[in-house]
Amino acid sequence: MSQDTSSNAQASSVGVSSSVPSPSVMGTYGRLNVVFDHGEGSWLTTTTGERYLDFGSGIAVNALGHAHPKLVAALTEQAAKLWHTSNLYRIEGQERLAERLCAASFADAVFFCNSGAEACEGAIKAARRYQYVLGKPERNRIITFEGSFHGRTLATIAASGNPKHLEGFGPEMPGFDRIAAGGFTADNLSAVEAAITEETAAIMIEPIMGEGGIRVVPNDFLRGLRELCDTHGLLLIIDEVQTGIGRTGKFFAHEWAGIEPDIVSVAKGIGGGFPLGAVLATNEAAKGMVPGTHGSTFGGNPLAVAVGSAVVDTVLEPGFLEEVQRKALRLKQELARLKDEFPDVILEIRGSGLLLGLRLKPAVGDAIAACMDEKLLCVIAGDNVMRLIPPLNVTDEDLAVAINRLTKSLARLSSG
Ligand SMILES: *Cc1c(COP(=O)(O)O)cnc(C)c1O
Repeated sequence: MSQDTSSNAQASSVGVSSSVPSPSVMGTYGRLNVVFDHGEGSWLTTTTGERYLDFGSGIAVNALGHAHPKLVAALTEQAAKLWHTSNLYRIEGQERLAERLCAASFADAVFFCNSGAEACEGAIKAARRYQYVLGKPERNRIITFEGSFHGRTLATIAASGNPKHLEGFGPEMPGFDRIAAGGFTADNLSAVEAAITEETAAIMIEPIMGEGGIRVVPNDFLRGLRELCDTHGLLLIIDEVQTGIGRTGKFFAHEWAGIEPDIVSVAKGIGGGFPLGAVLATNEAAKGMVPGTHGSTFGGNPLAVAVGSAVVDTVLEPGFLEEVQRKALRLKQELARLKDEFPDVILEIRGSGLLLGLRLKPAVGDAIAACMDEKLLCVIAGDNVMRLIPPLNVTDEDLAVAINRLTKSLARLSSG
């Protein structure tokens, strides 16, 4: 009751940030008690004027940092013209972005949605529909991997199989065969082969398990999956929601393995902070996705695709991805130096491109808090890993500031 009273008492000051989070927002997140007011580049400023260096990028979303002039212009120009028409009509921006994505990748066609989970759901639906139109409706099961993360919808929590995400949300959606975490070895690949049955439609994997602890899937393993899919008539779905759109220094992370998937899910970085997701597919894999089979009211609306196009155009500018690779190498070298300096804090450096993780000895929550104290934002991942995911266009100057702040943060956790 006392809580009710206090929220009533605050009704007259709605919108004013207080020192405690509002109980009116459903408590599904464990949030840090900081409120940001505005951002620029790799920097965020709180409502009380404190500046933080953002090496979390809103969980790999702000691919080009905050308030990028091109993205602001794309959004405001579109906002003044047209916000939404629905997919009952052609949307020029969608066609343009789809063509750009196809020209830059394995894909022939794109379905637009609004989030990563939706993109993964769309990918799963496309794979099932593909087998269905081939006359094999019994082929509807998807092989996935323990420790993966594909989103929080009922299908994607079943795909990932994280017990914490499934608990209390039963019945668990059937149709997924999860491979036990096995370190992506040859043995693990044999386990995948053994799991393939006459009911298998596809294999779905993240090229780097992001939420699961920045575990990089070796190129050989991805190539092995491609071969298994070819041999058994399965589709290979690569979940690039976190790794796509330049995050690893290639447009897509699977390019490092030299493979061509059948379906790819993207979200996070593609909208640069505007909600946008997409399913990319070959014409063959998209065969079943004919009018009426799938849809999204908001999917690829004019505002989202205007920003998405500006992001993709920027990432595909000559030299941009090379710069990501250069800065990634520099950051990784600095992290290796920190690991030598603080062997009692950093156990392992993981990741690729500007998706890097530090597996820590102390609790990762303590490390995130120490970084917060130094005004550096990082993101937690599974396996006691701290994620460093700066904007792709982070400056060398900001990289140096981050290393400096990280050094101070880790020194607090070190006993040496
Ligand atoms: C974040 C993420 C998702 C889910 O994206 P949402 O936009 O939160 O639904 C799916 N797959 C991967 C690999 C992700 O990193």
